[in-house]
Amino acid sequence: MTAPIDPRATTLFDLHDLASLGIEAWLAGRLRQCAEWFGASGASLFLSVPEVPGTFRLAARAGSHATAPDDAVLRTGEGLAGTVLELGSPMVVDDPERHAVFADRGVKRRDDLGCAMLLPLVDPQGERHGVISLSRRREEPHFQNDDLALAASLAAVVGLAVANARLLHRVEETARLKRLAELGQMAASVAHEIRNPLTGIRAAAQLATDDPAVAPDCLAIVNKEADRIDRLCEDFLVLARPLRLRREPATLAQAVEGAVFAAQADFRAQGITLEWAPEPNAPTLAIDIDRVRQAADNLVRNALQAAGSGGTVRVSVQGSTMTIEDDGAGMEPATLDRLFSPFFTTKPGGTGLGLCNVRRIVDAHGGTVRVESAPGRGTRFEIQFPRNAA
Ligand code: ADP
Ligand code: MG
Repeated sequence: MTAPIDPRATTLFDLHDLASLGIEAWLAGRLRQCAEWFGASGASLFLSVPEVPGTFRLAARAGSHATAPDDAVLRTGEGLAGTVLELGSPMVVDDPERHAVFADRGVKRRDDLGCAMLLPLVDPQGERHGVISLSRRREEPHFQNDDLALAASLAAVVGLAVANARLLHRVEETARLKRLAELGQMAASVAHEIRNPLTGIRAAAQLATDDPAVAPDCLAIVNKEADRIDRLCEDFLVLARPLRLRREPATLAQAVEGAVFAAQADFRAQGITLEWAPEPNAPTLAIDIDRVRQAADNLVRNALQAAGSGGTVRVSVQGSTMTIEDDGAGMEPATLDRLFSPFFTTKPGGTGLGLCNVRRIVDAHGGTVRVESAPGRGTRFEIQFPRNAA
């Protein structure tokens, strides 16, 4: 006979506050509910230590009779919980010394333990993420098979939640390391950019000291190099400031055509065809025209620089999507990977800030950037803005 589903079950299965609480606090809450629900006087949750396979550390405790010490550790195959972890299926155990599975392994009965329900947290790939153990004292009634059936399905959900939360954590950790690496590259680029003009300034100072007659020329160099540093700082500070949009009702074409017209002369001079295909009857969006134009400027200039003589760049606008496509050099995967990092450039005079700003502008609008590129074949940037009408 199966027990009717208790309405409280839905709260046990609720993953909503997982993100805000964090996995540990969320699990502690679920364990507390579990202990109450199953009338367990003691409850503990052990979670695997990813760095040490086969080892599990106490993550939460609940109930009036929770005995595990703060630093409790258990290993696969050892004791009640360790054995259940090894077997991978939930169990109710009254007296381990009289239970075929546990007696064989020499698991002793704890004096105060009347009955235990052990729930391994196993994800669908079979990975052991932890184990919940619920216990009752000797004077309390034993757990029933109905309890076990319900508890087992609960454990499956909790196991999946732990697996997902850990996966998410790994993904976030990888992203964090990538950001740190980018920061390092950025710092190196900035230091490099500052060092060049500084070297010029030092050399000019030395020259002026050696020969006061050339001092005026040297001062001009010092001024010019100081300006370079100033511009670099300006570029850098722009990145640090939050972007504030001034949205107004406009079609995407209104913003993009400015960039297209401004670039026309350069295209002609370099023998590259610029095709411009705005859509008639375009919808009105709520966008910051100047910023979107800036983004289009950067993308059109990059396309121009990538296209060889005789090449073609196509700029088009469809609804809330703009596309900039070239048949130029294309990009290797390694370049694609770092495309939007500030100061990443493969061009001798490049700043590496163009695409970083494109991303900032599109992000501020709540839009998305998609890139497709093949070495030797060309590149296509597709920017999609949200369709919310102005
Ligand atoms: P910059 O143009 O100053 O180099 P960007 O941020 O605009 O900085 O671009 C970064 C890098 O991305 C470029 O140096 C280039 O290697 C690559 N890139 C951008 N757009 C294209 C494109 N259309 N085709 C090929 N490579 C591109
Ligand atoms: Mg650029």
